[in-house]
Amino acid sequence: MAAIAELARDTRLTDKYGRAITDLRIAITDRCNYKCVYCRTGNQGALYAELPFSDYLRIARVLTSLGITKVRITGGEPLLRHGVVEFVRELSRLRTMDGEALDIAITTNGHLLAEMAQPLKDAGLRRVTVSMDAVDAERFARITRVSNGFQAVLAGVRESRRVGLSPVKINCVLLRGFNDDQIPAFGRFAREEGVVVRFIEFMPLEEERVWSPDIVVRLEQILERMAEFRRLMEIPHERSETARRYRFEDGAGEIGIIAPVSHPFCGHCSRVRVTSDGKIRTCLFSVFDHDLASVMRRGGSDDDMAAFIRKAIQRKEARHHIGEPDFVPASRTMVHIGG
Ligand code: SAM
Repeated sequence: MAAIAELARDTRLTDKYGRAITDLRIAITDRCNYKCVYCRTGNQGALYAELPFSDYLRIARVLTSLGITKVRITGGEPLLRHGVVEFVRELSRLRTMDGEALDIAITTNGHLLAEMAQPLKDAGLRRVTVSMDAVDAERFARITRVSNGFQAVLAGVRESRRVGLSPVKINCVLLRGFNDDQIPAFGRFAREEGVVVRFIEFMPLEEERVWSPDIVVRLEQILERMAEFRRLMEIPHERSETARRYRFEDGAGEIGIIAPVSHPFCGHCSRVRVTSDGKIRTCLFSVFDHDLASVMRRGGSDDDMAAFIRKAIQRKEARHHIGEPDFVPASRTMVHIGG
């Protein structure tokens, strides 16, 4: 028994810094129906190819055999891709190295979620993260450059809760002078809607290269602003978790802060990403990727794919260099990677 456990440990993906890789993010498209000002240039076109779902499933299967326990489906906007429900169903049949079901989640803008939450839940989806950068309809439209989106997304959030996708998390990217005044309103929203609101520091991953350190609303500033609404108490979080977690003093409502700029968590990164065209990215800020799809196109076996993945993981970056003089922009922007 001990020997088997030892063998399993040996075959689990670990990078050269000793970080166990357990968390896979698969972008199934880089198309998006929103044009958030901090993300997209406003073009409609996808830049990169989409693989058939059978290829993503094979990639997920091989990675799961190497120690992945969580799979997050992302994009672009993943709910735009026909077949996503069936894909979740197939993923839910995979088993981790320990024989458990995968923890399957989706990150979505929520526009199509109201009609898809139940089928996704039935297919095996456990959790959903919905991106919402404002809680008032007019501001929401200004950010997303889509009119009437807010009500659709709100309906998606409520339906997700109703069908038991739990917890429903809301991702809010804050930009100074643009939506940071929404912080207290998001506090109220978290409490009233029973969702976990997570504020994210803006990272230099946008198409138009508008990032500057001054636009970033930092963790301490978010806490300060929220304290005007109600006091927060920090609650423990796992080391590999991206978010610091807080509860309001009276126990109702949870807030998270993802602070990759002011408090980087690269030392505990457990993530590997696969782009819609089948490239492995070992960091959001990678300046090159690893063409796993070409191994498959050449007729590579699962073992060939596993060997390729292991090599790629050995080149996982130690950390990002946001805000440093030697910062080199990533070779892809967020919408073409998958958050
Ligand atoms: N379309 C889906 C959505 O809206 O959630 C999934 C893809 S989107 C690229 C994933 C997440 O990345 C969203 O929560 C989005 O707000 C966030 N994001 C995009 N650009 C970002 C940036 N430059 N810095 C931080 N977060 C960003």
